[in-house]
Amino acid sequence: MAYLVLARKYRSTTFDEVVGQEAISQTLVAAIESGRIAHAYLFTGTRGVGKTTMARILAKALNCMSAPGPTAKPCGKCEACLAIARGDDLDVVEIDGASNRGIDEIRELRANAIFRPARCRYKIYYIDEVHMLTMPAFNALLKTLEEPPEHVKFIFSTTEAEKLPATILSRCQRYDFRNIPTPQIAAHLKALCKAEKVPAADDALFRVARAAAGSMRDGLSLLDQLLAAGQEITDEAVIRLLGTPPEERMTTMADAIASGNAAGALGELNALLESGISLSGAVGALGELFRNLMLASACGPASELIELPDTQRQAVAALAGRFSLPALVHAVGLLQSLERNVRSSSVARALAEASVVRLAAADKFIDPQSLIARLEAMGRSPASATAPRAAMPAEGEKKKPLTP
Ligand SMILES: [Zn+2]
Repeated sequence: MAYLVLARKYRSTTFDEVVGQEAISQTLVAAIESGRIAHAYLFTGTRGVGKTTMARILAKALNCMSAPGPTAKPCGKCEACLAIARGDDLDVVEIDGASNRGIDEIRELRANAIFRPARCRYKIYYIDEVHMLTMPAFNALLKTLEEPPEHVKFIFSTTEAEKLPATILSRCQRYDFRNIPTPQIAAHLKALCKAEKVPAADDALFRVARAAAGSMRDGLSLLDQLLAAGQEITDEAVIRLLGTPPEERMTTMADAIASGNAAGALGELNALLESGISLSGAVGALGELFRNLMLASACGPASELIELPDTQRQAVAALAGRFSLPALVHAVGLLQSLERNVRSSSVARALAEASVVRLAAADKFIDPQSLIARLEAMGRSPASATAPRAAMPAEGEKKKPLTP
């Protein structure tokens, strides 16, 4: 038997089951129960957050044959529900906007929309990636949206709502899908592992969920890869798959930075690269660590904004105490721009090393106290404003303003 990917095997089939989009589910259920059904819906959000899943559930709710009218609880067993779930129902037409973007396709849609549905209540057109349509296609679609036949419903989905013409937007009921929070993705993955009877470590699943960055589909496809590779899901297996450095290594590096030990931090970077971690992977992980340190310093280590399993929060809290908040803010900014530059630069490694040295020797570059003193002095004597190295502390000044 062919292996069925998790995303298909465990696709949510009811409004209650769609992970992370509870607010949208509730609104749609309330609308269906009170009979306030729109002619056109627009689902926006990044990929893999449940737009197509929600569209199919909505289509089933509108067309389920086990109920006398639209129902918030489609049966999932009638011919219509089954066909919609497979994506091949006669009355629910799924169109990929990216490959059917021209006026001819929309003209054909309009010509067919006139005819009543074959067996269900509504003829439903689901256009995915609707922003890809050409302008003439949008204009043709608009004519149908302005005067839709009673039996026609539209569901559009897009990752780029800002590319839609205002005339289309104004005729749709819009639902913005949020990125799914990491703990919710992790909990869902855990439930699936249980259903698949595969042992999985919580930390490993949390790491997968974090890498999915809000997209359930990405989380599931990573889990698919892990399941294909082995019997058990361990943190080591996930680290290997993702090519991200383990936290302990990053913590060691940040520890060297906190001590002003540039050589130690560079050595750690080198060791990471030699172990097969990519430069952008290492820089990304360092950026993430410093973001967590900044959040721990600003909001406390228990903050929900810090996406880490509890086991790693303690290390982050301890490390955060060794930097001042301004130093952490500076580090986050520096590492963010480094992440961008590393992708496009031919001297990426040198840039990364320069940033690491700069962080470890931050006091040589910015010392807020001496900077303020110098700015005040500049106010008194404008001539010194042009002096080079004005922000550099003089020799013999305090060595480590980063550490309290
Ligand atoms: Zn049904």
